[in-house]
Amino acid sequence: MGKKYISPFLKINNMQVPFVDLYAQYLTIKGDIDQAIEDTIKHTRFIGGPVKTAFEEAFAAYVGVAHCVGCGNGTDAIEILLQALGIQPGDEVLVPALSWISTAEAVSAIGARPVFVDIDPDTYTIDPALLQAALTDKTRGIIPVHLYGHPADMPAIMAFAEAHHLKVLEDCAQAHGAEIGGKRIGTWGHAASFSFYPGKNLGAYGDAGGMLTDDPEVARTARMIANHGQLVKHQHHMEGRNSRLDGLQAAILMAKLPHLEAWTEARIQHAAAYDQLLAESGLGLPLIRPGARHVFHLYVVRSQERDALRKRLQAAGIGCSVHYPTPMPLMDAYAAWGHTEADFPATVKACQEILSIPMFPELTVEQLTYVADQLRLQPV
Ligand SMILES: *Cc1c(COP(=O)(O)O)cnc(C)c1O
Repeated sequence: MGKKYISPFLKINNMQVPFVDLYAQYLTIKGDIDQAIEDTIKHTRFIGGPVKTAFEEAFAAYVGVAHCVGCGNGTDAIEILLQALGIQPGDEVLVPALSWISTAEAVSAIGARPVFVDIDPDTYTIDPALLQAALTDKTRGIIPVHLYGHPADMPAIMAFAEAHHLKVLEDCAQAHGAEIGGKRIGTWGHAASFSFYPGKNLGAYGDAGGMLTDDPEVARTARMIANHGQLVKHQHHMEGRNSRLDGLQAAILMAKLPHLEAWTEARIQHAAAYDQLLAESGLGLPLIRPGARHVFHLYVVRSQERDALRKRLQAAGIGCSVHYPTPMPLMDAYAAWGHTEADFPATVKACQEILSIPMFPELTVEQLTYVADQLRLQPV
C-alpha cells in the first residue's frame, strides 16, 4: 500500500538522470490510464468510437480550432494535410533546414519538393527574412516548425504567405500549448499537424497524430484521406489510405489531456530553474522571444565544446542528446541536391553546438540541480 516509487535511474550517491522518464509520469496517473485501457478493451473500441471523437473535440478546444482529425502519427498528419490543402506533385514547399526529417519527408511523399530555408539562430525556427530568396514560381506552401517548443515567427510568416498566396501548415509536433501573444500555435496557419509520439509533450503509448484546422473542407478531406476515402462506411469518395488514431491511444490521450497544462507549467518552471543555475556557466541558453510561450519540449544549451560536454554528462549518468546532429539538406537522403554547408550557416553552426539536457515534468529538484552542477564544471 502506497509504496513509494523509486526511479530505477536515481540511485543514492550514484545519481542517474534519464533524458526522459515516461514511467514516472505513468505512475502519477496510473489509475486513470489503467481504467482507460480496461474500458477500451471491455467495450472493444479498438478503432474509432466515442472516446476517439471526444478526444478530437477536446484537443481541438484545447488548441482553439474548430476541427481535429485523429490519425496514425505526426508524419502522416503533415502528409495528409498537405494533400488536403491542395499541394500538388511538383509544387515546392519551404521547410526549415533544422527539424526532424518528417517535415521534409512528408513533402516528398506527396511528390512535392521540400525547399530548405536556414534558421533564425536565436530560436532555431525558420528565418522569415530568408523566405523571399527561397521563393520560386512553383512555391505553394510553408511548413514552419515550432522547434523544441518555441513558436516560429508566425506573424511574419503569415504576412509573407498572404502576400504570395501560400498555404501554411504548422508542424506543432514539439509545441503543444505554445503561444504567441496569448494565441496558441496551431491557430495561426491554414492547418496544423501534431504528433502524440510517446516522448512528445502530450504523448500516447504508441504512435498517434492529430490534424487541426478551422477550415471544414480541409478537415473533411483530411478525414477522408486518413480513412480510405470514406466518411461513411463503404462510401469511398476517393482513394485514401489507412492512418487512424486507434481506440487505445485515444483513450490514453483523453486521460492525459487534463494534465497537459500542469505538465507544461512544470516544464516552464524547470527551464527557469536551469536558466538561473546556468546563468554564469558560459553556456548558450534558450532564448524566449517577447510575447512567446515556450513550452520546452526540449531544453537546448549551446557550447563550442559540445562533444566534450556531452561525454562528461554521459559519464556522470546524465541522459542527453543532440536534436539534430545534421542539417536536413546535408543528410545523405538529400545528397543528390548538392547543398553545401555554406547554404545554411546558422543551421550548420547550431548542429555543431547544441545539446539537449534532461527535460520532463517529473524531473525532481535533486535531478535538476545535479544536471546543472555537472554542466557548470569546465568542459574537459
Ligand atoms: C516527432 C516529430 C514529427 C513526427 O511525428 P511522428 O508522430 O513521430 O510521426 C514531425 N515533426 C517534428 C518536428 C517532430 O518532432
